[in-house]
Amino acid sequence: MGDTESERKDRADDEDRPEDGVTDSRPECHRRSCTERATFVVLERYQEETGHGAVEAEAVLCQAHANEESPTNLDASYPDYVFRVEPLEGTQDTDTA
Ligand SMILES: [Zn+2]
Repeated sequence: MGDTESERKDRADDEDRPEDGVTDSRPECHRRSCTERATFVVLERYQEETGHGAVEAEAVLCQAHANEESPTNLDASYPDYVFRVEPLEGTQDTDTA
């Protein structure tokens, strides 16, 4: 019943600190059957059809699929509509694309 050991949180969230040789903390492409590493995040913000407010759809994609992305909810656009493709942080290493 010794619960008083001082456990240090050695494994905190290591998602944003790349370990040497270990890269499995990086997300995979959101597309089904695509196992490429996601290097972009695609965000689309549009107005919900029901008028209940804005919806943000976000997906991380590999470069090829991010390249294919296009706005899909323009019919639900509104003054704050957003379609954005941004590079994921922490993926700018010397990986051969
Ligand atoms: Zn992909």
